[in-house]
Amino acid sequence: MATEPGPRIFLASRNAKKLREMERILAPLVPGVQVLGLDDVVEYDEPIEDAPTFEGNALIKARAGVAATGLPSLADDSGICVDALNGMPGVLSARWAGPPKSDQRNNELLLAQLSDVPDERRGGHFACAVALCLPGGSEQVVEGRMDGHVIREVRGEGGFGYDVLFVADGYERTTAELSVAEKDAISHRGKAMATIAPLIVAALS
Ligand code: IMP
Repeated sequence: MATEPGPRIFLASRNAKKLREMERILAPLVPGVQVLGLDDVVEYDEPIEDAPTFEGNALIKARAGVAATGLPSLADDSGICVDALNGMPGVLSARWAGPPKSDQRNNELLLAQLSDVPDERRGGHFACAVALCLPGGSEQVVEGRMDGHVIREVRGEGGFGYDVLFVADGYERTTAELSVAEKDAISHRGKAMATIAPLIVAALS
């Protein structure tokens, strides 16, 4: 007997790790859920992410996703906000050292910019906004954050981006030295996903 295909949701991303992470979070809540990415749908013009906030950029991407696919659509936007840099790199985190995107050059630039900043002033946080847009026009956006500080040299092999430089409050290891489960439990993305998951479940039921 053929099994019914599970409900589908579109995540406006080509990042295979993000797609699998979403499926991991939703699987126990929505059995059989399929998370489709940009590589799984007909190609469309991806919008320019030019909003000054994480929420604004997440909404731009999720709105374009629902318009192009007709599927319930999710998008996230995230970055690191450093107190001593007045909240920068913020929405510019992925491109902080200019094109082409490079985590290593971004980290080197951030370290150079903070080289004279003493330990007690190296605080900051990661922020993540997740937007959910439905074919009927409903829109929701939620946020999560993880506070901590920026260290003086890269440490760790896991994670991505600025994880090798960031120690969350209450920890001594960088977020690149935490297990996936440890990071998901405290991270900006993990918190935003936990908040939006029930809304996704309601939308797909
Ligand atoms: P995007 O939201 O995928 O565009 O990512 C924005 C950028 O913020 C990434 O390229 C990373 O540089 C940084 N970033 C966002 N979340 C994290 C994280 O969990 N760890 C490390 N860097 C992150």
